[in-house]
Amino acid sequence: MAKQQRILAGETAAITGGARGIGRATATAFLRRGMKVAIGDVDIEAARQTAAELGPSTVAVPLDVTDRDSFSAFLDAAEEQLGPVDVLVNNAGIMQIGRFIDEDDLTARRMVDINIHGVILGMKLVLERMIPRDRGHIVNISSQAGKFGAPGGATYSATKHAVVGLTEAVRGELRLMGANIDLSYVMPYVVNTELGSGLGQARGLANLEPSEVADAIVEALKLRTVEVWVPKSAKRTSLMATVLPRRLSEGFARAIRADRVLADADSLTRRNYELRASRSEPALNEGADTPQIARESDEQPDGHRRAGLDDAA
Ligand code: NAD
Repeated sequence: MAKQQRILAGETAAITGGARGIGRATATAFLRRGMKVAIGDVDIEAARQTAAELGPSTVAVPLDVTDRDSFSAFLDAAEEQLGPVDVLVNNAGIMQIGRFIDEDDLTARRMVDINIHGVILGMKLVLERMIPRDRGHIVNISSQAGKFGAPGGATYSATKHAVVGLTEAVRGELRLMGANIDLSYVMPYVVNTELGSGLGQARGLANLEPSEVADAIVEALKLRTVEVWVPKSAKRTSLMATVLPRRLSEGFARAIRADRVLADADSLTRRNYELRASRSEPALNEGADTPQIARESDEQPDGHRRAGLDDAA
């Protein structure tokens, strides 16, 4: 029997990191379905600008996902201004790339804090509100780096794998408790946002637009889908990688240069993004001006710099 589609109109959503990129596109898609949206972002100026552009069913609230009080205040403000939160999208995340052995500890800590602890905090705080109401849906934004380890983005891949494991485990607990809360995790390929700027290309795979991820999130809410691949065809690749002998699946990844997407990133193009990302956890700001940028020796003949991995096949 076909699943009954949920009606989203009138529901309240809270989106972390909603000022730009995938978060903003998701807010736009939700508003189009008649939802109300609270966007929380550490960049409150950009969040206010976005809310003003998206219209009166949107509010902007300051948020640092790594801070429990800030996250609680964000959910409080969303509920006071728009009503009980039916949907939380844990979208805020940063990706600072470069060779693992060159990564400074502060960069690793910042990614773990925002990409993992931010999601853990958000889930705990919203579940406190959703469980007594016995309704709600949490959408955690992972990545295809949450299923495949991406060279050049080791710590980022680790955080996104954690989001997958976390969502699966909490979903299991909620089922054991008999709680009627839905959980999804979303695994997009490269998306044309500031976070995804200057990355390498895999053969035969086109970058996504943020609206494509937003549409997949809307569909996941309607159909209560747990595992959301964007594009959908990526699920086949993942299954193939699971059943094929490692030698063949790694050979395939090398043949289409999937192992080069983060490793071949152009650090000059990414410079502004990397600087912004390095200021994304206010409590760690003392190290913010030393972003994870490739060294002088990685300079290329075109004047650009790669992420610091050599090109030996
Ligand atoms: P983005 O940089 O365009 O937007 C992320 C937003 O999160 C920014 O507005 C930023 O200010 C906010 N943010 C950062 N730290 C925060 C914090 N501590 N508290 C609150 N807000 C904070 O990035 P995006 O591409 O839209 O990425 C959104 C999510 O999608 C991330 O989790 C990312 O890992 C994931 N993702 C992105 C891609 C891609 O290629 N762009 C692919 C797969 C998954």
